[in-house]
Amino acid sequence: DYALYYAKEHRRGRPVVFTADHEDAIRARSILEQELRQADLEAELTLEYQPIVDVAAGRVVAFEALARWTNPRLGRVPPGVFIVAAERIGLIGTITAILLGKAIAAMRGWPDAIGLSFNLSAHDIASPAAVARLAALIEAGGVAPERIALEITETALMHDFDAARDALLALKAIGAQISLDDFGTGYSSLGYVRRLPIDKIKVDRSFMADLLVDKASRDIVKSIVDLCRNLNLDCIIEGVETADHLSILRGLGCRSMQGYHFSPPVPASEVTRLAGPVDAASAEAVDAEVSLV
Ligand code: C2E
Ligand code: MG
Ligand code: MG
Ligand code: MG
Repeated sequence: DYALYYAKEHRRGRPVVFTADHEDAIRARSILEQELRQADLEAELTLEYQPIVDVAAGRVVAFEALARWTNPRLGRVPPGVFIVAAERIGLIGTITAILLGKAIAAMRGWPDAIGLSFNLSAHDIASPAAVARLAALIEAGGVAPERIALEITETALMHDFDAARDALLALKAIGAQISLDDFGTGYSSLGYVRRLPIDKIKVDRSFMADLLVDKASRDIVKSIVDLCRNLNLDCIIEGVETADHLSILRGLGCRSMQGYHFSPPVPASEVTRLAGPVDAASAEAVDAEVSLV
């Protein structure tokens, strides 16, 4: 559990070096869970926002909200760690509601043309009551639900396919969009995409690692892009880190992208500065051919 390296011992106020030792791991986990239970979540949870860029139009079209937890004793705990802990101790519904409330409030200050992408966990769509709560929050939020894309991973959908489909249908019924996150890492694929009411696919950033050197990676990304075009789905490539990535992806017909090449996640206060046309340095520099191995 690499995650638990982040936990610090609060009694003596010094970091605990967690080894592979089982007892340490259990102890670190329980410290983290205890801090999460006691936390002032409204105050300690914030969101950063990462632009999603339409490179053909040269514009930022949406922002993905990414959860941040900063605790007085533990410091910054990554979402990969605390979201899982929150699921374990039954706090995820509360956390999702707080974060979605904050994201929608932030969105009210954005231009109408800018969308929000918001991550859900499996638990958020596991029961009709949880789904109804999400839908109510969105409907009460004062923004057009069509501007909100709810991201859900394949893994989250696999727990109970029928329940997941009902949940997605209920969220679509109020006008929200559904985005399939981390596509290409799970078991799913075509079957899922065809049988679920999905609007967008986000291609996992693991494909970027060897995009420049491995033809197979490029072929896979190309076939996902083509699939999306045939099924009339938006396709967003995650983890675009370099101008070479961008150039290759353009050649494959990709249009929507997200990644450090454009911008890291930023605080809410920077969203309006980034919304709109992307600066020429990140969007243009790329018509040059890149030679592929
Ligand atoms: P994700 O939804 O796939 O989010 C993308 C992650 O990739 C983010 O990590 C982002 O900071 C990172 N990233 C963006 N561009 C690049 C890039 O060019 N290169 C690399 N190497 N990484 C990039 P982050 O913020 O640590 O979030 C990790 C995961 O935690 C998210 O993956 C998502 O599954 C989960 N998460 C984050 N916020 C929430 C939330 O509000 N609710 C739920 N349920 N899960 C969340
Ligand atoms: Mg996501
Ligand atoms: Mg993702
Ligand atoms: Mg991911």
